[in-house]
Amino acid sequence: MDSTWINAPAKINIGLDVLRRRDDGYHEVRMIMQSIRLFDRLTLTRTAEPGIHLTTNLSFLPVNKDNLVYRSASLLMEEFGIDGGLSIHLEKRIPVAAGMAGGSTDAASCMLAINDLYDLGLNKRQLMKRGVRLGADIPYCVLKGTALSEGIGEKLSTIPRMPDCYILIAKPGIHVSTRSVYSALELNDTVPHPDIDRMIHAMKQRDLEDLCRHMGNILETVTVPAHPEIDEIKRCMMANGALGSLMSGSGPTVFGIFDDLDKAKSAKLKCYELPFKCFVFVTDLYR
Ligand code: ATP
Repeated sequence: MDSTWINAPAKINIGLDVLRRRDDGYHEVRMIMQSIRLFDRLTLTRTAEPGIHLTTNLSFLPVNKDNLVYRSASLLMEEFGIDGGLSIHLEKRIPVAAGMAGGSTDAASCMLAINDLYDLGLNKRQLMKRGVRLGADIPYCVLKGTALSEGIGEKLSTIPRMPDCYILIAKPGIHVSTRSVYSALELNDTVPHPDIDRMIHAMKQRDLEDLCRHMGNILETVTVPAHPEIDEIKRCMMANGALGSLMSGSGPTVFGIFDDLDKAKSAKLKCYELPFKCFVFVTDLYR
């Protein structure tokens, strides 16, 4: 095999809690992660010429070691002393810097594809162990599906599957820095923490409505006051049939959960009527 391709799914956070700030500056989190069917696509081709040659459809993205795809490829190629070179084309469809782990899922998928292309024989656990060196979300992106993520994001456990539903994604054209959101987060007694265990219980019961009632993301306390558009999108989704609506990660992406595809599609049209531009997309869960 000289060439292969792989779809890298985006994730949303059904719940996101921050427990404490550690002495090393990292935050201890509890997050419910869910993959959705919104994909970047990576195409990898072995070349005779040595080195990694990365191209992408987005001209503003780095194509050197600042891209997580490049870094994940060189990590495996160096460790396994792979001869020859590798050309990678990254077709981005997941919005960048949006709270949907775009870069992490690209890196995870790149490692999975290289493992196949060069018959490295690594299992998921072994890939996850390598991935965490590049980013705390990468192990989850190797695993995919529904998972509870703890520690700094690298401790993963499987939880009951999220009940079937449709997802409406809306990303306003706002730039949010994950780092600044976490550093502005105040963990005092008045900050409402989402009840992650209650959400897991609702998943166990396969009760989508109850799950939606308890969804929460503590980072909304920082991002929403700074960007009222996020609240406007949430209200628009809820007014148009969503069972629940929440910001994903540090934002600015908002998702809505629907039990009916037509409702999700008509809410999508309503999002286009908002007084600011959004990338809007209807999809469902990736298992
Ligand atoms: P998270 O949900 O993990 O916080 P995110 O969706 O907020 O991730 P990304 O889309 O991963 O953020 O991108 C954040 C930054 O990382 C971008 O500004 C970009 O320059 C850089 N980056 C490096 N590699 C990639 C990649 N493959 N795709 C997108 N961005 C990348």
